[in-house]
Order: sequence, then C-alpha cells, then structure tokens
Amino acid sequence: MSFKELKLIDPLLKAIHEEGYETPTPIQSQAIPVALTGKDLLGCAQTGTGKSAAFILPILQHLVEHPVTGKNVKALILTPTRELAIQIDQSIEVYGKFLPLKHQVVYGGVNINTQISALRKGTDLLVATPGRLLDLINQRIISLQTISHFVLDEADRMLDMGFIHDIKKVVALLPQKRQTLFFSATMPEEIAKLANTILRNPVKVEV
Ligand code: AMP
Repeated sequence: MSFKELKLIDPLLKAIHEEGYETPTPIQSQAIPVALTGKDLLGCAQTGTGKSAAFILPILQHLVEHPVTGKNVKALILTPTRELAIQIDQSIEVYGKFLPLKHQVVYGGVNINTQISALRKGTDLLVATPGRLLDLINQRIISLQTISHFVLDEADRMLDMGFIHDIKKVVALLPQKRQTLFFSATMPEEIAKLANTILRNPVKVEV
C-alpha cells in the first residue's frame, strides 16, 4: 500500500515525500481511508506508530477540500501534555506546508496573553491541552461552535492525568455534527465507556 493509494491529495503527498516517508504505517493505512470518508474512528495505537499523521493528514485534506471561511477554529486536537501538543503542531506544519491552512498550539504553564494575541489572528486547526483550552474558552477567546473535526489523542493518558471532567466539558461544547477521531494506547472499560459517549458508529482500528 502506498500513500497515493490512500487517495491523499498532491500537496500532502509532496510534503510526505519530502519528509522521507515511503510507505504508510499500519495505523495510517487502516485509519486514513476511514477518516477520509468522514466516519468516526476508534483507534487503538501507541505513540511511535505514526498515529499523528493518521489523524492530521485526513483532517488537512478535508479542510482544503471543504473550505469554510472565517477565523474560527475548524479542527480541534486535544492531547494530554505540552510536549505532545508541540509535536503534533510541528507535524501539522510539516504535512500542511503546501496548504493554505493556519494552525496554533496552546498549553498551560506559559503566559496566556501571547497565545491570545496569536489566536486573535484566527486559526483553522488548534492543538490544545485541556486546562488551557478551557481557560481560553472561559475568557471567550475561543469558541468551539465551528468545529467540524475533533481528535482526542492519548485518551488513556488523559484519564490517568485526571482530565476526565475537562474532556467532558469540552465535548459538551462541541457541535453534534462533527467527525471525531479517538485514540488510546489501551482500551480498558473506562475508556471504552468514554469512547461510547463521544463517538457515533465508530470504525474500530487496532494496531
Ligand atoms: P507518532 O506515532 O505519530 O508520534 O510518529 C512517530 C514517528 O514516526 C514520527 O517521528 C514520524 O515523523 C514518523 N513517521 C510517521 N509516519 C511515518 C511513515 N509512514 N514513514 C516513516 N516515518 C513515519
């Protein structure tokens, strides 16, 4: 299986090629076709499997193929740590370098005002950790009403870190009509239950 066979558009294929990727990883070849159809996805995959590209590539493709004007956020990627948030944002920069899409990353532990001024310029994709995201929502800097794509990354780690209530608050603010991609390295009962409340008829992918 090649990236071209996954039906990715040329600007993405070019960026992937420049990055030196030759073939999709198992999570990519299974998740990308599902995500491109717009279906919800429940992915069981660890960090290091190439799961970031598995959710970033289809979202980028969808956002350029179905452009929506306006400064508001269209895709939200929620991840537990600052390190993961920065990594995902950097991957968006790399994979999206030939596309006219804007992205921002927000996380706690740093001055919020710098993030606020950056967000005022508008962003298509937002990578965030839960606490800082809720701060920015409470300050009315960010609205989730225009989100069409939601990714919950490392769900099991989110629960371990005590983010369950924050996640539920965020999900309650999302539009019902959206695509959700849910990733977790493990799938204990508690995670399966959470997935059930967030996803609609998900396709399950396990690597
Ligand atoms: P992730 O699991 O998303 O954190 O990705 C792990 C690492 O694999 C990152 O450094 C990616 O740049 C790299 N990677 C992702 N997909 C591929 C691929 N198809 N071929 C080669 N490297 C990849």
